[in-house]
Amino acid sequence: MGFSKRFLLDLAPQVIATLLGYFSEMKPCQKCIKPISDDQVEKAPRCDSCRVFFHLECSGLCASEQRAIVVQRRIILFFCEDCILSFKKIPLLTNKFVQLEEQIKSLKEEIEVIKQQNLQTVGATDIPANMDAVIYEMQNRADRANNLVVYGVPKSNSRSLQQKISDDNTALLPLLNDIELAQDDIVKVLRVENWQKDNCGNFSEKRGK
Ligand SMILES: [Zn+2]
Ligand SMILES: [Zn+2]
Repeated sequence: MGFSKRFLLDLAPQVIATLLGYFSEMKPCQKCIKPISDDQVEKAPRCDSCRVFFHLECSGLCASEQRAIVVQRRIILFFCEDCILSFKKIPLLTNKFVQLEEQIKSLKEEIEVIKQQNLQTVGATDIPANMDAVIYEMQNRADRANNLVVYGVPKSNSRSLQQKISDDNTALLPLLNDIELAQDDIVKVLRVENWQKDNCGNFSEKRGK
């Protein structure tokens, strides 16, 4: 054997027995790990699932079972303890497998739904348009935030537009002191009454008034 003793001792006995069985002609007993002699091999029970050998006395079989197992054309199967423990877990594992299959199926469906939603969101063109509208509205509100509306300011009698604007500015001066503003704070004065908005949104003075 190529294995050192130290290496073999570190392994579980069952693993060693299985390895020895695979790599050599020697048939070790899965229970006691000692070799099964040539004259014992004929009668040594072998697990019908994992194919490991046992000494007759190590197999845990009673005398009548031993006789039945050793018979050449036997109909009784022999399974080692490890395999029997594994078999007992099969119904449980089968159930878990079915559950896992169902979970995977529903997860796949959820992923498909999310994928579709993502595609629709990315493909939507109304989002940039909405964003533009929102930004425009925000700018517009910021621009109008300092607007001041003054009612009942006497109308100028002048025919000149420049004079009318000048008169409106002058009329506002007494008010500026009351609200602690200087003349420099006024960007533009518009007399709303005399202005109309055309189809393009531009303001112009109403004619004939
Ligand atoms: Zn044995
Ligand atoms: Zn077995």
